[in-house]
Amino acid sequence: MTDRRFVFLGPPGAGKGTQAARAAERLSVPHISTGEILRRAVREGTELGRTAKGYMDRGALVPDDVVAGIVAERLSEPDCRDGFILDGFPRTTPQAEALDGRTNGASLLVLYFDLDDEEAVERLTGRRTCASCGANFHLKYMPPKVEGRCDRCGGELVQRSDDREETVRERLRVYHEQTRELVERYRALGRLAEIDANGSPEAVGARIDARMGDD
Ligand code: AMP
Repeated sequence: MTDRRFVFLGPPGAGKGTQAARAAERLSVPHISTGEILRRAVREGTELGRTAKGYMDRGALVPDDVVAGIVAERLSEPDCRDGFILDGFPRTTPQAEALDGRTNGASLLVLYFDLDDEEAVERLTGRRTCASCGANFHLKYMPPKVEGRCDRCGGELVQRSDDREETVRERLRVYHEQTRELVERYRALGRLAEIDANGSPEAVGARIDARMGDD
């Protein structure tokens, strides 16, 4: 059986969410974004949302046990049996260890999106997100067809509070401090595929398709 378990790893702004949505549709596997799950919980005002909000607003990571719990629950749902794309998880070594436990050593391909910090800042500060469905756009690189409106559902486009420059810089600092080490971890395990994340979404998408295979 072809393995279809993927992790999209890389700095904020590298295009993981955009590309994961696209690849998940192509492969018919669920796209699991921990950031999106947490933002939904914040919007709905659940207990999880109340816990997560303070961390997210300041660009910090939500505690490992909280996030690992969410992912464990999600991966146990039947639609994840034949594969999945994890976007934004794992982000720390303890999260990666929790994922090892869930996948029972079954092979996982980790796509590492390589992008410079300054390019990430430019992408994130210009990003606009649909308040209803979470789709992402960019004022310059991926403008919506109608200004301020989502192409997919017509919802209102807003700037995520953590996409303001000061918070973006903090998210990048946290990435280098806590997440970057996972690149070496998965490289040592022989599970890493490096993707040049510069260029248009179409160009990056084509590089990804070539590494993921088509079934
Ligand atoms: P993202 O949409 O992936 O950039 O995530 C937005 C925010 O959600 C992050 O800055 C964190 O505060 C939180 N978050 C998302 N995924 C994780 C994770 N795996 N571990 C800890 N915090 C996370």
